[in-house]
Amino acid sequence: MKKIVILGGGASGFFIASNLEKSKKYSVTIVEKSKSVMQKVRISGGGRCNVTHACYEPAQLVKFYPRGERELQSVFHRFNPKDTIQWFEKNNVPLKIESDNRIFPKSNSSSSIVECLYDKSIQNGTLIKTEFPINSIEKKENQFIVHSKNESLSADILLVCSGSAPKIWDCLQELGHTIINPVPSLFSFNIQDKLLHDLLGTSFQNAEISIIGMKKYKEKGDLLITHWGLSGPTILRISAWKARELAELDYNFEIKVNFLGISYEQALQEFIEFKNNNGNKKIEKNKPFSITNRFWNRILDNHNINSSKNYAELTKKELTAIVNTLTQSVFNVEGKSINKEEFVTCGGVKLSEVNFKTMESKKHKNLYFAGEVLNIDGITGGFNFQACWSESYIISEELKSI
Ligand SMILES: Cc1cc2nc3c(=O)[nH]c(=O)nc-3n(C[C@H](O)[C@H](O)[C@H](O)COP(=O)(O)OP(=O)(O)OC[C@H]3O[C@@H](n4cnc5c(N)ncnc54)[C@H](O)[C@@H]3O)c2cc1C
Repeated sequence: MKKIVILGGGASGFFIASNLEKSKKYSVTIVEKSKSVMQKVRISGGGRCNVTHACYEPAQLVKFYPRGERELQSVFHRFNPKDTIQWFEKNNVPLKIESDNRIFPKSNSSSSIVECLYDKSIQNGTLIKTEFPINSIEKKENQFIVHSKNESLSADILLVCSGSAPKIWDCLQELGHTIINPVPSLFSFNIQDKLLHDLLGTSFQNAEISIIGMKKYKEKGDLLITHWGLSGPTILRISAWKARELAELDYNFEIKVNFLGISYEQALQEFIEFKNNNGNKKIEKNKPFSITNRFWNRILDNHNINSSKNYAELTKKELTAIVNTLTQSVFNVEGKSINKEEFVTCGGVKLSEVNFKTMESKKHKNLYFAGEVLNIDGITGGFNFQACWSESYIISEELKSI
């Protein structure tokens, strides 16, 4: 009987164990350093677990991955979000698609996912060893020995599903793998600016953001003012696509924000028309653009514009200053904050060292990888779990034939 050891009791490790039915040909053991398993799944998506995303075409789906786009093509051809939906529904966890295409369990609780994967793994006869932190991996002839403090386990087949664990990356480096330097992805920007101060919760639907000094790079969409600065899907996308460049800048850089998402010229023209048609109306009570009253009043305050006057009294200088703020504000970003809903690490095992038809290492036979241990990560929206499910499925299919 072959001994399969899964290093890491997270999303990927448990999805593999859930798919490896009881067999006389192999035994499956999960080793997990913590007291409890699947901790990230539990807290994922604000406790609701954003399982996947309603995007079913592999060619489109891979576009959501700043790292891994090319390699995931074939992976998603074998197991894509439709398969994820079917898999969980077959295992009594119905899912629902929300208006932004994110997919959650109908129960709105990550525990449905955790319990399903846990129960399925136990039914399959998986042995789960918690509080078993691996601190070295030894290759001995055709076996891998994983060493914990007081105990070691030998494996004929080792599946590394350890997520973003520096210790395991060190072990893999010792086995000859290249580790792409890990840096955070999916974070929000710290900005201290009086335009944003105390406007927590103010949002914009069509904002456009660019990083000064990074030519031709723009993101458009939802933007949110937070306690610390700016967040929301647009900022998170930038933090993912530019994770490495922003780390190199030590998270100190300038961004240009167009809160309206229309050009300066168009905004100016619309504002002039609004002013001409509303000359006898009060500025504070009548906004030319769909922004919140608090933000509108903050802009007026910032430019020392008397908000109780009528539009007819608004000078050209004041009008252009407002349009300028709305369409081309520049902010200094000084650091980053954790996005509590979802964050991942960019970096990990170099992708050219893995065979994506099987997820097996090209350096060692019978060594496999799935999940965040690889240099693959997606933007926010369920893409990170989808990569875990798909890669794990491929491994389980591969192992069924041993
Ligand atoms: C707050 C938060 C919310 C998130 N929400 C979402 C979401 O809604 N949707 C989405 O798609 N993605 C989400 N993500 C990302 C997602 O959780 C990860 O991409 C995913 O969990 C990666 O799975 P994994 O199996 O590779 O690693 P993990 O789930 O991190 O599992 C790795 C396991 O290995 C164990 N381990 C590590 N080192 C050792 C060792 N030395 N010995 C033994 N065991 C070890 C760890 O304790 C852990 O249990 C979220 C992430 C965070 C942090």
